[in-house]
Amino acid sequence: MAMAMLRGAAAVVARRCGLGPGSSGGKVAARRRCSAARRREWVPPVGRDSGIVAYNSRSRTKEPLVLTKDRVATWYSCGPTVYDQAHLGHACSYVRFDIIRRIMTKFFGIEVIMVMGITDIDDKIIKRANEMNMSPVALARIYEEDFKQDMAALKVLPPTVYMRVTENIPQIISFIKTIIANGQAYATSQGNVYFDVESWGKRYGVLTTISPDTQDEAVNTDKRHGKDFALWKAAKPQELSWTSPWGKGRPGWHIECSTISSAVFGKQLDIHTGGIDLAFPHHENEIAQCEVYHQCEQWGNYFLHSGHLHVKGSQEKMSKSLKNYITVKDFLKKFSSDQFRMYCLRSRYSSAVEFSDKSMDDAKNLLQAISSFIKDANAYIKGQLICDPVREDILWERLANTKVAVKAAFADDFDTSRAVAAIMDLIHHGNRQLKAVTKDAGSPRSSVVYGSIISYIEGFFNALGMSFGERQVALGGDNSAVLSSVIDELVQFRTKVRHYALALPEAAETAPVEGDAGAKGSKREEKEKRQQLMRERKPLLEACDSLREDLAAFGIHIKKVCCGAGPDLAFANPRGVPQTERCDMTRCRPRQGSHHPQHGSAWLGGLAVAEGVVLAQGRAAGPACLDRAAVSTWEMAEGGGQAEEQAQKKC
Ligand SMILES: [Zn+2]
Repeated sequence: MAMAMLRGAAAVVARRCGLGPGSSGGKVAARRRCSAARRREWVPPVGRDSGIVAYNSRSRTKEPLVLTKDRVATWYSCGPTVYDQAHLGHACSYVRFDIIRRIMTKFFGIEVIMVMGITDIDDKIIKRANEMNMSPVALARIYEEDFKQDMAALKVLPPTVYMRVTENIPQIISFIKTIIANGQAYATSQGNVYFDVESWGKRYGVLTTISPDTQDEAVNTDKRHGKDFALWKAAKPQELSWTSPWGKGRPGWHIECSTISSAVFGKQLDIHTGGIDLAFPHHENEIAQCEVYHQCEQWGNYFLHSGHLHVKGSQEKMSKSLKNYITVKDFLKKFSSDQFRMYCLRSRYSSAVEFSDKSMDDAKNLLQAISSFIKDANAYIKGQLICDPVREDILWERLANTKVAVKAAFADDFDTSRAVAAIMDLIHHGNRQLKAVTKDAGSPRSSVVYGSIISYIEGFFNALGMSFGERQVALGGDNSAVLSSVIDELVQFRTKVRHYALALPEAAETAPVEGDAGAKGSKREEKEKRQQLMRERKPLLEACDSLREDLAAFGIHIKKVCCGAGPDLAFANPRGVPQTERCDMTRCRPRQGSHHPQHGSAWLGGLAVAEGVVLAQGRAAGPACLDRAAVSTWEMAEGGGQAEEQAQKKC
């Protein structure tokens, strides 16, 4: 196993230097030179080649993505600083990396273990909390939840674990102590601790070429050198702080990611991601800290950076400080998450992208073209669209070629735009043959090939976090649809329990007994038996009543009416499917003058008509049903009441 892994690494080095397995011996010297030159900068990790080539900011070139453990990727993602709503610039980075994560999982079978750090204490959070007269921790929790909701709305998969800075303070202090012990950081009399960049020398500047006079984000007078950056910041009076060996304070920004990543993955990290603006100084400093802490040559094998999102006509990236941002929530009022994902798919994740209404329209047009092809192909399969004979062989070949092209595009630094182009090309060829003719010449139909194409295209987009086709919409991210089904099941279960509890043997069922005394005795016995059963089953009825009351707290109302109440039996649910507890005719009788059809479809059919009216009224009258998709208003017909006696009285 170990030898195989080493051979894998050697092969990777050879490929990186442009030397394939068939290279001549004359290239050995070149390989040595190449190898030596590379080793000073970046060493290919020992492990398994994933089959993907990715642009690595650490080596500043495309590299085969070699994972330390076969088909498992350890991935650290810098998370948000939670002091305000997320905007589209943030969303773009997280959606792009979500797409990459899904490609790795769905197309290359790689299990991704992702950790995301949440910065819940920092200068911006403290400033905003002071402005709002609330505690920084409370403010951070509000915007952390807000961030998670935005990501869910954009269908970004949550990381394996979120880790908050404030919950890792002892680990951060211990991490800093080790860096000081290793001689690479110093504490000042003011209670700050700085990383000594100067003595780290040429190892600093892995990701970017650093100019000698570069300063840290905050200029502090007690630094030894301008480039030194804070690991621990002394607290100002009244500021939220933690006790440390250097006095009361809080962590610097960069140390949190190094500590959290190391706490989970140790010194071994395959992939580290973030927006390109994080490359320097944030990621550069993370690398320096970790390599000192772990005393290793290379922490973080692959650094992937996403490009900025610009507003059209502006050279500036979208950002809070420039006040040129659109919040995720405002964006989603106008556009769909699928539209944004398609917009992201159309460029390489690392490139800068321009945002405009036109770019959103282009994405929408593409989505419509895909939907309309799927619709036409479905119609063809169902025999609703009649065409001339289809060249099946061409379509099968196109489909096979598309699959190869898509995989090759993804393997080439996750080139999503090329993959989408391959899909659109397949749709183009599929459409060309779907030309409707007015006359059915009875030609053979090629349903299977069109079925396969639809299946592949739907699978492609669904794998990337989009939804095509009603099946996916019904089963997918729409929680209200799932919840409706759960409520459905729950109400039906309750109905069965109630009916069992209420179903007592009728007196008529008992066998006739000769003699008056015998009959009286039998009736008394029967009555006692029924009362005994009623006592035994009472807890079931009470549980049913209690469930009805509990559900009401969530806005789900099981309406108590007698089965013979005609239109009162109407009930509503968002899907318009009639929900009913079947009338139990053994106890209920029709009301005088009301129409009470026999059990069965006629009765339910009549009800369905009334239901439509009530459903519409219910929606108009109850905005809660619409605002809170998960909570729907249900009105259920109940045969009987809380107990059998009440049911008898009502009916
Ligand atoms: Zn970070």
